[in-house]
Parts: sequence; C-alpha cells; structure tokens
Amino acid sequence: MTKKRGINTTCVHVGEVKDEQFKGAISPIYMSTSYAFDGVDVKRYPRYYNTPNQEMLCKKIAALENTEDALIFSSGMAAISSAMLAFLKRGDHVIVQQVIYGGTYNFIVSEFDKYGIEYSFTESDKADDFKSLIKENTKILYIETPSNPLLGITDMQAITDLAKEKSILTMIDNTFASPINQNPYNFGIDIVIHSATKYMGGHSDISAGAVAASKEHIEQIWSTAINLGGNLSDQTVWLLERSLKTLNLRVKEQTKNAQFMAEYLENNENIDAVYYPGLKSHPQYEIAKKQMKGFGAMLSFELSEEIDAMDFQRNLQLIKPSMSLAGLESTTVSPAQTTHALLSEDQRLERGIKDGLIRFSVGIEEPEDLIADIEQALIKSIQ
Ligand SMILES: *Cc1c(COP(=O)(O)O)cnc(C)c1O
Repeated sequence: MTKKRGINTTCVHVGEVKDEQFKGAISPIYMSTSYAFDGVDVKRYPRYYNTPNQEMLCKKIAALENTEDALIFSSGMAAISSAMLAFLKRGDHVIVQQVIYGGTYNFIVSEFDKYGIEYSFTESDKADDFKSLIKENTKILYIETPSNPLLGITDMQAITDLAKEKSILTMIDNTFASPINQNPYNFGIDIVIHSATKYMGGHSDISAGAVAASKEHIEQIWSTAINLGGNLSDQTVWLLERSLKTLNLRVKEQTKNAQFMAEYLENNENIDAVYYPGLKSHPQYEIAKKQMKGFGAMLSFELSEEIDAMDFQRNLQLIKPSMSLAGLESTTVSPAQTTHALLSEDQRLERGIKDGLIRFSVGIEEPEDLIADIEQALIKSIQ
C-alpha cells in the first residue's frame, strides 16, 4: 500500500498517461479507434470505455471520490441514464428525490414508462419520505444534495441506513458539491454521479459525465454503457484531465468566495433571503456540516419586492446571466424564467421558487469585484 497522497497531488498526478517515448510532462492523447489484440482479454475500443486516456482518467476520478473504480461519459445525462438503466428492469421501482436536476426528471418521466419501470417522487428531501415510499420492488433510492435551486440538503447517512436495511441501491448526483466538497461513497452511497460539464470541467468548455463506485457496480454499469454508447471522445478526455489538475484549487477558491458572498448578501437590505448550506440560517446547516468538507460554490437569493429579477440581471456588468454553472466565471440564472418556467406560478411557489429568486454560481473573481457589480445593479434596478 502506498501512502494516501494529498488532494492536489492526486489531482495532478493520479491517472497520468505516461509518455514513455518522449518523456513529455503531460499525458499524450491516444486518438486510435483501433488497437492490436493484446492477448485475448483486452479489446481496446472507444465505446468499450477503455482507450488509454479513458482508462487512466477513470483512475483519477475514482481517487477523487475514494471509490474503487469509475467511468467517464459524454455528458452528465449519459452518466445518469447509463447508471440507472444498468440496474433497472421491467417491473422495478425507483424512489427519486422531488427536487432534482430538470434533465434527470425529464429522463425519468418520459422514458421509464416505455420500459415498464415504476417511479415515485418524494414530497421532500427527508429520509422518512423515502421510507414511506419503499415497496417490495424498490431497487434504487436516487438523491441530489445540495439540490437545485434552493440548495436543499439530504442526509446521506439516513438514506444509506434506510437502503442497507432493505438491500436497495443508492445513487447520488454529486455535481453541485464536486468531489472536493463531498465524497458520498464515504457515507455508504453506492453510486456517485457527476455532470463533469460543471465543476470537473470547470471552464465552461467541456460536456462530460462521470460515475464512481465499487468495481462490481462499475462493471455492471459498463455492460449497459457499451450498449448505450455514451462514451467521451479522447480529445475531450484529455481536456478533462487537464481541468481536473486544478479542480481543488478552483473549487476551494470558489467555495471560499461563495461563503463570503452568502454572508454579504444575508446582510444586504435589498435581499430578502439567502440559501446557502454554509450559513447558520440554512435549515439543514448541521447536516451539511456533518457530510460536506466545504459548502460548495452554488447559492441562491431572493431579491426584495421593489427589484425586478430580469432588470437586475440585465444591469449586471461582470456577472453573466447564463444557463449553466460552475465555471471560473460567476453566473446567475432566474429559475422562474428558465429552469422552472414550465411550471405554473402556484407550482413554483409550492416549491419555494419566487419570481425574485436568483441562483448564483460563484466564480474565482475577487469577491470585492462581485459585490461592487451587485451593488451597482441593485441601485439601477430599484423601481
Ligand atoms: C448539468 C447537470 C446535469 C446534466 O449534465 P449534462 O452534462 O448537461 O448532461 C445533471 N445534474 C446536475 C446537478 C447538473 O447541474
């Protein structure tokens, strides 16, 4: 056994593809789609998820999530769909947390009926809610924490305790926390999923996904994944490896900035509410403290009534209103106008999503500059 290394060392060095020929400092890219048979076992092929760059990057991701193994995909949704379908068959039942990523919700409600897979959504993110929905045929508990857009926190230990009792598989979308701020496998969650388009990529220029789990579970996901074909191109695998070298540096800085911004916003008279798991005012602060290493760089806040959310975002000069999240640059989104626009106003309010709610993905800019931008936009937007 080698000594467990520090997080930055892991980010930089684990899973490097060695350049034996020229001794270059970084991983070479192997673009081949055809490889000589190497004995009878190893058939390398991009859709088998085992080209040299894919195989090695999986080691880095497994090290970051403290799992035995991992797989990388062409998008977060390819990772989510491959992972779920690998364990489900006709007649099975899945319990899904009510507040989850919109794409995951759409995948479940538009595809599962076709395959005869049953699903239930919980009323809240409390473990008791999952418990009351468990049936004979329940195969998976699916959670997302922190969740979008109100940064709700689900108690991972309570979920795994519940699942272990009944031999049910647990899956988490760990995108918002990133492996730097939360390692669900340490709390007994079986399958850890990421949209690597977000923090893992981190520069708003890569679409990718990842799944981390035990060797046995990864093998099962692999055997479905090769049929679905959501593998990532080796060029992008290489870019993702480069991004992951700075994952800890980026996410730590973003997390520090988010805490600073959350505290600033909480004390701003034009802001009615701030949702951030690192604030003592967050209803699940104690659970977040127990299961997160850092509180993440996503937060949301409610503008007071005299400020129009669209005006406010138009008046921002540095912070960009934008659909995605987790880049180096700070971005905002108005959930009522975008991610939750298809719901009626009543449905939105039921979920705590007011028109003045702004989701804020905090970047690496100096917080003083972010505050100055918010201040000038607030002043311009007061009606
Ligand atoms: C973006 C996102 C996804 C989907 O990832 P894609 O890379 O867009 O397919 C899943 N979960 C969360 C929490 C996300 O933010």
